[in-house]
Amino acid sequence: MDYQSISITKEFFFDAAHRLEKTKSKCETLHGHTWKVQVTVTEELKDDGMVHDFTDMKKIIDHCVRNRLDHSYLNDFIEQPTAENIGLWIYRELKPHLAHISKIRVYESPTSYATITFF
Ligand SMILES: [Zn+2]
Repeated sequence: MDYQSISITKEFFFDAAHRLEKTKSKCETLHGHTWKVQVTVTEELKDDGMVHDFTDMKKIIDHCVRNRLDHSYLNDFIEQPTAENIGLWIYRELKPHLAHISKIRVYESPTSYATITFF
């Protein structure tokens, strides 16, 4: 079968507060969002018919990222926690435990999100 690549995406949510100190907008004051994150892995299809087991991905994401972010104040551990910087932080935390991450998307609202792609 001919295809260019095959990816799977795990989506998760967390609630967290932030304030953007380097921004002259309403985001400068303390407020919260329900953030949505999509983590995409692009890899060879294995003999079991999977790129990566979703259950295993969920375990890694919950342990390394979600449990730490949920109900947190993001400024405590991410400098200028924009959707972009949160995505980069998530990548750095996941990378040692989850290979072949090709894309991370962080939604600050249903219509505003940052997308980071990796080689
Ligand atoms: Zn905000």
